[in-house]
Amino acid sequence: MMRGVEADFTLRPRSLDEYVGQARLKEKLRVYLEAAKNRGEALDHLLLFGPPGLGKTTLAHVVAYELGVNIRVTSGPAIEKPGDLAAILTNSLEEGDILFIDEIHRLSKAAEEHLYPALEDFKIDIVIGTGPAARTLRLDLPRFTLIGATTRPGLISGPLRSRFGIIEHLEYYTEEELAQGIARDAALLGLQIEPEAALEIGRRSRGTMRIAKRLFRRVRDFAEVAGERVVGLERARSALDALGLDGLGLEARDRLILKTLIERFSGGPVGLETLATALSEDPETLEEVHEPFLIQLGLLKRTPRGRQATERAYRHLGYPLPEQSRL
Ligand code: ADP
Repeated sequence: MMRGVEADFTLRPRSLDEYVGQARLKEKLRVYLEAAKNRGEALDHLLLFGPPGLGKTTLAHVVAYELGVNIRVTSGPAIEKPGDLAAILTNSLEEGDILFIDEIHRLSKAAEEHLYPALEDFKIDIVIGTGPAARTLRLDLPRFTLIGATTRPGLISGPLRSRFGIIEHLEYYTEEELAQGIARDAALLGLQIEPEAALEIGRRSRGTMRIAKRLFRRVRDFAEVAGERVVGLERARSALDALGLDGLGLEARDRLILKTLIERFSGGPVGLETLATALSEDPETLEEVHEPFLIQLGLLKRTPRGRQATERAYRHLGYPLPEQSRL
């Protein structure tokens, strides 16, 4: 376990050049980074949103590397009290440094309000003492850059959102980009993988770099145990099949979601909560982790009246299309 974590850490791209894909975003970032560097100022606060595993955390580290500054990493749920935030802001940041807050939509209201003056004026209020003797002290902070990441941009309040100068979303990766990421890891691990095999893994990775890299490590296990020095297409296919991934990269869980929708709810529309209950799944996980890629693949639709299976979902799972097609 530890070794896996370490390996992943060393494989992380460090610079923008090493960071695969996201061309549109990288192009803009290059401009913002250069402008900030030329002015000798901290980069504007940056909000990154997109589904899990697309590279938000990695990109925050890349930005720090490119600017040559330190990065301090925390998350919304880890900051419980305003005092926690004050401690981070006053103790660990220097001029130009980056504070990365993952899952920023989960910041408490109190902590969030405390953050506003820090973002806007680089000042923070701290309360000293308790009861009637309590006093508020306003402290100056170094000019830092906040990078916030979220899978749920809709849950970020207006006032918080308005304090970010740059708001960008990450996109799902193409098969080719995923294959590029896999090939890079393979090279760093001193392994050979055929381009076709890397593409096959990419194809079944739901457009997500984290999944592509994880699947590659599993395929590599199969190849190594079989004593193969080069990972070929056949090996990739059979390993991915053994992992239960179908041709579109759906796992058993994804297929069950669609099957439940089709068999129990006649394809929908059905409300998120009802569907989640039928699957014994937490609605948030269903919505954030499973649905985005099903939607991306055109297998599921979110409609005002609920979730609906598409014609493609019926076909992919081998169900006859409903008679009066409402799809
Ligand atoms: P997120 O924060 O969006 O959930 P991470 O930044 O943790 O995603 O990325 C997940 C994994 O994918 C990490 O192992 C990271 O090194 C890798 N990764 C993500 N984006 C890229 C990229 N563009 N190029 C190369 N590797 C990437």
